[in-house]
Amino acid sequence: MGFERFGTVSFVSQTKVAKFVDFLDEGSVMGTKCKSCGAKYFPPRSDCAQCLSSDMEWFEITGPGKLVTYSKLMYAPSGFEKDLPYRICVVEYADGVKVFGRISSQIPDKELAIGMDLVAVPVKLSGDKVSYEFRRP
Ligand SMILES: [Zn+2]
Repeated sequence: MGFERFGTVSFVSQTKVAKFVDFLDEGSVMGTKCKSCGAKYFPPRSDCAQCLSSDMEWFEITGPGKLVTYSKLMYAPSGFEKDLPYRICVVEYADGVKVFGRISSQIPDKELAIGMDLVAVPVKLSGDKVSYEFRRP
């Protein structure tokens, strides 16, 4: 069991941090934090890009964060066509962590506003996949 079960974002093949998926199953969206210098990463990394330490710990992405930018996709990578159209976004948290993700279809386009509060929520997808999406707090 690992990242092949993570549904909607393609960055995950780049990381070795498969426990991320286990945390989603348990209901938490997690990033990693460097124990040496305190740098925070999302998506999670197993090595710190700042100080090159491998001494990392998990922290939960709680929030809410603020919507920084978003975009509506009318074209998707292979495998995501049936989800179209959907909105992707970047949400920034108080500690400066920026999280990329998808906006819940529960929020209509006209209610999206830069600066609004959003929370990352784990979601179950078809085919035993898991992911997360942004919803209202
Ligand atoms: Zn570090």
